[in-house]
Amino acid sequence: MADIKLTLVVACALVDADKRVLLAQRPEGKALAGLWEFPGGKIEPGERPEQTLIRELHEEIGITVSEPCLAPLTFASHAYETFHLLMPLYICRRWEGMAVAREGQNLAWVRAGKLRDYPMPPADIPLLPHLIDLLL
Ligand code: C5P
Repeated sequence: MADIKLTLVVACALVDADKRVLLAQRPEGKALAGLWEFPGGKIEPGERPEQTLIRELHEEIGITVSEPCLAPLTFASHAYETFHLLMPLYICRRWEGMAVAREGQNLAWVRAGKLRDYPMPPADIPLLPHLIDLLL
């Protein structure tokens, strides 16, 4: 069997006081452009997933998250054609600062019942029931 590339990404469901979840739209020029995802990014060598999230959430949407506020929720394991994606999903209900699109991406605060209206990458879709169950 040919070697399959492994890609490690971590994502976070940011949940506000009204139980809305932040989704970010993948921008033009990126793979899966136009689809909506939980914010996050690639885990760099030497990083723990929590450190990646703290870094990415600050870079992408300008918020400050502290590690104790990040709780693991579930895990995506998806075989794309050219790589295998492993992606833990965390949940976070407390952070500092207001979410702003720092990289020109569209952002949406979405109620649990509406999450399925936002087209997502195939790896993210199986994550939804866990989150929706928790929020409804
Ligand atoms: O975000 P980035 O492009 O670095 O992610 C690498 C790959 O992981 C993407 O090309 C996409 O196929 C996949 N991905 C995903 N769901 C996410 C984030 C990334 O399926 N929420």
